Amino acid sequence: MSDTSVLLTQPVTTIPGCGEKIAKYLEKMDVKTVQDLFLHLPFRYEDHRAITPVAELAAGDSATVRVRVQQLRSRRAAKRAGMTLVEGLVGDATGSVRVIWFSQGYLTKTLAVGEEIFLTGEVKQDRFGLQMVSPQYEKTNKPEALHSARIVPLYSLTEGLSHKQLRTLVAAAFEKYGAAISEWLPMELVDGAMNYAAALHAAHFPADFDELGLALRRFQFERALLQELQSGLIKDFHAAAQARAFEFSVDDLKAVVAVLPFALTDDQKKAVWAITQDIAATHPMNRLLQGDVGSGKTVVAAMAAHPVLAAGAKVLFMAPTQLLAEQHFVTFKKLFTDVPVMLMVGAGKRAAIPAGPAIIIGTHALIQDGVKFDEVGLVVVDEQHRFGVGQRKKIKDKNGAGYTPHFLSMTATPIPRSLALLASGTLAISSIKQMPPGRKPVITRVVGPGARAKAQQFVAQHIAAGEQVFVVTPLIDPSDSLGVASATEVFEKISKETFPQARVGLVHGRLKPKDRAAVMDAFRAGDLDVLVATAVIEVGVDIPGATVMWIEGAERFGLAQLHQFRGRVGRSDVQSYCFLCSSKSVARSASDAVAYSRPSESGAPQISAAEQRMRLMEQISDGFELAEKDLEMRGSGDVWGILQSGFFEYEELLAVPPEVWERAKKAAQKVFNEPEILAHSPELRERIARFEEILHQE
Ligand code: ADP
Ligand code: MG
Repeated sequence: MSDTSVLLTQPVTTIPGCGEKIAKYLEKMDVKTVQDLFLHLPFRYEDHRAITPVAELAAGDSATVRVRVQQLRSRRAAKRAGMTLVEGLVGDATGSVRVIWFSQGYLTKTLAVGEEIFLTGEVKQDRFGLQMVSPQYEKTNKPEALHSARIVPLYSLTEGLSHKQLRTLVAAAFEKYGAAISEWLPMELVDGAMNYAAALHAAHFPADFDELGLALRRFQFERALLQELQSGLIKDFHAAAQARAFEFSVDDLKAVVAVLPFALTDDQKKAVWAITQDIAATHPMNRLLQGDVGSGKTVVAAMAAHPVLAAGAKVLFMAPTQLLAEQHFVTFKKLFTDVPVMLMVGAGKRAAIPAGPAIIIGTHALIQDGVKFDEVGLVVVDEQHRFGVGQRKKIKDKNGAGYTPHFLSMTATPIPRSLALLASGTLAISSIKQMPPGRKPVITRVVGPGARAKAQQFVAQHIAAGEQVFVVTPLIDPSDSLGVASATEVFEKISKETFPQARVGLVHGRLKPKDRAAVMDAFRAGDLDVLVATAVIEVGVDIPGATVMWIEGAERFGLAQLHQFRGRVGRSDVQSYCFLCSSKSVARSASDAVAYSRPSESGAPQISAAEQRMRLMEQISDGFELAEKDLEMRGSGDVWGILQSGFFEYEELLAVPPEVWERAKKAAQKVFNEPEILAHSPELRERIARFEEILHQE
């Protein structure tokens, strides 16, 4: 850190205007120092630069006017006792307009007749004409407007703290400490980009959207640079790693594929081929297998296990949940009859691990507890694409044979191209783009309270026809339900009232593993018609006989989660359905709803984020497309995240444009080739050193 930046670690209370009370509110958002406040970046901006002449105001506008106060008075509301109304008349050279505020009696003291102010807010029409309702006000006698007549930043807040207070505070912080913000990257690398101090200021108070864009680009560059530096270090680390080569002839491969109950799709074949090539080398494989929910990744991993088993080594298969580990156990037991297949979950007693070839299936516990294996040739990790260097080291330590095992990760969330490029050299990627033959897109419908009965009838018919239904619900106990249907409640209701003829089961995370496995087995075997479940069934669960996914409280789930749930059905050639049930009433059909639009500076669409998510589900069945929309919807809030966390979130990197990656790549090369440029950048030097440490620690 440079000398002046010590100032930035001062507590927020050293900022003029920040008392203990505001400091308390800020602390709730983890903002304790001046620096924290600078890094508490806006999640959105509103464009209030345009000043509307009063004569041009129209009902329904959200507008900013520059006016003088002509009249102002307060009175008690006639209808609602105790509430104070402040009413006034304001005007500019073009005309006058009425204004009203509710419960803000103090305004008659802070504003004076004759004073010039900006007002920003809604214009409404009543029987007396136009009126601005509860507008934000700001006096014009200041050097720079903060809340109006500019691009106005919006922050995440805590209760008790207003935007106005926070903006005022940030501006005061820049005034006192702005000069102490120094560039932390070597100047050679910043090159033509915006410097750190300017970018921080522009992020809070941009002069225009171009400036904001430059600031964003600068932060993205930082992020990309750090990621590139990490990748470079990891690459070196990998280059030195050794694995055992597992060879397998084409005929051997054909023989194991031939006994499968179905023909592999072309994409599956290509993936199997690429993997078997990789593991036939002494350099450890690091491959990501990506394919949408239901595209058939598991069987590809199973085929990859053959060469390793044939050579007498073990295959570890890691699932994200115990439930999924249990399911994979069932699948693999069917696929492999001549080698031991073992399930290792939880801490309890377990069978002895045999020497020689075996498939060991488990959760993260596989690499966490004290077990050591005689020889691990291949590790498969399901539903994860981020797998840290640290975890990889742990796996190496599990391998009694001493070499680095080959590594395959599988995910339904595809890695975007920009990231794929970034990872090239350390990560190979196989994609399954085709679905197995005969699959039909799942028909998805949003169901409001008024449409429930009809939808239930529809489902009952499908149960009667022998099809199976998942009912997903957000919570387990009625006590924590917050008005949302819980699994136990839903279970009672479904089995007694909704589908009294159906055989209904219940699974959730708090069931004993044995009981849970019994319910899953019964559902899989077709002995249950309906399975009520919590989010435990979110990923991976594969029960091809299920054709209806019924999601209660659908507004509670994120887009990625909804897509994963939906992926539990549509796994055969029978038409499947997904119902997104919302306790709120929703527009009747997709076309009734306002089309999805990016949260914009001007009036945001009048449709909640939850409803947008559900509508997108109706319209889009492709997981990649949904992931992109998801990112768009969540907007720049996530893009800034790294500045606070210092960690690279997949979603943030996703937003970095290719040309910024290119620049970052070159900059990282420069750091590797000419480390002396770090001489005056202690913070960057420290970050690199810390990462190297993690990489090499035992
Ligand atoms: P995911 O990619 O979501 O992990 P799974 O591996 O669970 O998907 O596969 C989904 C279902 O599709 C399974 O029931 C599996 O047996 C089946 N399946 C996989 N590949 C094929 C194929 N080529 N033809 C027919 N069914 C297949
Ligand atoms: Mg899967």
